[in-house]
Amino acid sequence: MTRVVRTREALRAVLDTGRRPVGLVPTMGWLHDGHRALMARARAESATTVVTIFVNPRQFGDPADLARYPRNEDRDLDICEAEGVELVFMPSVEEVYPPGFDTTVSLGAIARPLEGAARPGHFEGVATVVAILFNLIRAERAYFGQKDAQQVAVIRRMSIDLAIPTEVIACPTVREPDGLAMSSRNVHLAPNERAAAPVLRRALLSAREAWSAGERSGDVLRDRMLAELAEEPLAAVEYVSVADAGTLEELDQVAGPALLSLAVEFGTTRLIDNELLGTG
Ligand code: AMP
Repeated sequence: MTRVVRTREALRAVLDTGRRPVGLVPTMGWLHDGHRALMARARAESATTVVTIFVNPRQFGDPADLARYPRNEDRDLDICEAEGVELVFMPSVEEVYPPGFDTTVSLGAIARPLEGAARPGHFEGVATVVAILFNLIRAERAYFGQKDAQQVAVIRRMSIDLAIPTEVIACPTVREPDGLAMSSRNVHLAPNERAAAPVLRRALLSAREAWSAGERSGDVLRDRMLAELAEEPLAAVEYVSVADAGTLEELDQVAGPALLSLAVEFGTTRLIDNELLGTG
C-alpha cells in the first residue's frame, strides 16, 4: 500500500519508523513512463521508495506556464501504487514554503548557460525546492532523469558543495516509440505538433552520426542539428548546443565527453532533449 502524506510532520513520522536505505524520486506529477523508470530503479536499490509530487511555483518564470501545468492526483497515485512506492509526499505550496520563507539557493557557472540562460531563475527555483526535499527526506539516494541533463548537473554540484549526503543518480531518458522523450508537457502538443516533435531526436542523432564519423567541429555539429530542425516547419528553434559534458561550456572542438542539447518550441509548448557523446 502506498501511503500519502501532505505535511512535513506526517512525512517525518513515517520516515522515522521506515526502513532504510531510502530512495527519493522528486517529480511535479502527471506521471509517465519516464517517472516510472526512476521509481523502478529507486525501488530496486531501496527499502523505502519516496516519490514527491509538487508543482514548484518557484521554478516557473511564466505564470501562464505554471497555471496550465497538467495535474491529476488520482492517476498519479495509481501509478505510484502500481510501482510499489511506499510513500508519496504531496505537499501544498504553503507546506513547502511556509510564511516567512526567505532563502534561496544561489548557483554558479553550471546553471548559467542553456536552460539557465533561456529560463532566468529556473534553476534557483529547482535547487531551492530540491534542497528542501533532500533535507526533509534525508534519502540515501535520489533519482533524476538524464532528459534534464543540466538539472542533474546543477543538483549534483549543489549536493557536493552544500555537503548534502544524498547521492544523486542520473537515469536514462525514456522515449516514445518514435523517439520523442516522454514529458508531462507533451500533452499540450496539438496532433500536428506531436507528429513533428520527433525531429528533436532526429537532429540529435544526426549530429551523433557525424561525430561517430569523426566530425569534431562544434559549429559543424550545431549546423547538423539546425539543418535537421529546419526540415520541420512547426519547429521554432530556441537553441542548439554542443557543450563540454562537465562544465556545459560551448565547444569549438569536441575533444572529450560532450553534451548535445536543444530546446525547440512547437506553438506554445517548449521541448528539450539531449544526447551525451563520448561517455562510454
Ligand atoms: P518532472 O516531473 O518533469 O519535474 O520530472 C521529474 C523527474 O523525472 C526529473 O528528474 C526528470 O528528469 C525525470 N524525467 C522526466 N522525463 C523523463 C524521461 N522521459 N525519462 C527519464 N526521466 C525523466
